[in-house]
Amino acid sequence: MSASNVQKPKALIVDPGGTSRTMLRRMVEQAGLEAMMASSGAEALALARTEVVDIGLLGYLLPDMTGLQLAQSIRPHVAKGAPLLLVTSEEHQELLQEAFRAGITDVFQRARLGELLVYLEAFLGRLLSRDVKGAHILLVEDSRLFVHIVTDMLARCGMTVDCAGSVKEARRLFAERAYDMVITDLVLEGGESGLALVRHLRQGEQDFVKLPILVMTSFDDPTRKTELFHAGVNDYAPKPLVEAEFMARVRNLLIARQLFRRVEEQERRMRQLATTDQLTGLSNRHLFFDSAEHYLARAERENQALSMLLMDVDHFKQVNDRFGHAVGDDVLRVVGGLIGASSRKGDLVARFGGEEFVALMPNCDEKGAQAKAESIRSECERLDVSGVRPTISIGVACFDPLDPESLDSLFSRADRALYEAKRLGRNRVVLDNRLAGQQEELERLLKA
Ligand code: GH3
Ligand code: MG
Ligand code: MG
Ligand code: MG
Repeated sequence: MSASNVQKPKALIVDPGGTSRTMLRRMVEQAGLEAMMASSGAEALALARTEVVDIGLLGYLLPDMTGLQLAQSIRPHVAKGAPLLLVTSEEHQELLQEAFRAGITDVFQRARLGELLVYLEAFLGRLLSRDVKGAHILLVEDSRLFVHIVTDMLARCGMTVDCAGSVKEARRLFAERAYDMVITDLVLEGGESGLALVRHLRQGEQDFVKLPILVMTSFDDPTRKTELFHAGVNDYAPKPLVEAEFMARVRNLLIARQLFRRVEEQERRMRQLATTDQLTGLSNRHLFFDSAEHYLARAERENQALSMLLMDVDHFKQVNDRFGHAVGDDVLRVVGGLIGASSRKGDLVARFGGEEFVALMPNCDEKGAQAKAESIRSECERLDVSGVRPTISIGVACFDPLDPESLDSLFSRADRALYEAKRLGRNRVVLDNRLAGQQEELERLLKA
């Protein structure tokens, strides 16, 4: 990536034309910003709707409106907190007051454009450091001179820098804390090169794999650079360092890292949303079916008991009918909470559908499962949710690792037991007896 690929903040210049327009453009570019030009208020508004505007330089007399009118209408379309500067040859106290009222950030005289340049440079500095302020950088460099130069540049942008003189020292620091980025020299003291550090990080744990790495080196041949990128370096800065370019590279890598983190966080939230039941906070049936097979496989592999509880709130339709849907929801929340709270770490508990819940409990045999079900049933009976006294029926089925069955089969047995609990009068626990079931099945087949 060359320095010219580095994204620059954008300035919108609104000026109908002539020399002043060219001068403003030059000044903006000299300050290190990208210039976007508009010659009227309407053109400026159209641009601001499609492009990010980090700062606006507005002339006072525009063909279709004044700079103050433009400031008011363009404000919602520019970046949050973006300065809007009025550039004018008019000079009177009233204009200043009017300008501030219109949301202009500052007023600059055309006769004194030098002040504007100073403002733009300071603005760019603030903007660039905004994204990187607070970043914690590990600098791996054995030259005291470069340690000094780089630390100084980074610190001026509000970053914190830890220094290591060798790969060994860098590894020690990595073990102690997390960094947002590594900047490393290639030739280091202590027998290991910066490349060894890169390999160590890229082959290591997940988190290191995503860590941005910038290499500084005075070797400038293409093969060596390619080798660096192959090893997993994100970018490369030639020594001697040019501050503006070096800082732009650092900033780019840090911003990319931030964006990546944001995407990861969004992904995590999406996954959470997709697998969680919103009413009770328990897993939903998708997650249940995704995970349940693994529970059975593990029980079989590790020769351990596994029990399934299928639970259904009794006469729940009547709850809705008598107390309303909102109270019905409250009951489900409370019952779901009770079931969730009575589960162990490692249990899979889900809201299976309307008023049905399911739990898969590893390491829990028939006796344990019945006791757990009975305790859920009796606790449920003691609830009082806005006057509703819910009861629950529970079907229990246990997986036998020595005679494994499919998830479907386990589930149908739990369902059969639940149905039996309902038939026997509800508010009770029924254990499915697999042997008896098989016996019945056999008899049915023999009769047929
Ligand atoms: P049984 O004792 O046989 O289980 O009778 P029931 O009334 O509980 O069973 P049924 O399946 O007839 O009714 C379940 C009711 O649950 C019907 C449906 O409107 C209600 N329900 C399903 N999901 C929700 C929900 O998210 N909130 C509320 N409030 N009610 C729900
Ligand atoms: Mg060195
Ligand atoms: Mg039901
Ligand atoms: Mg029900």
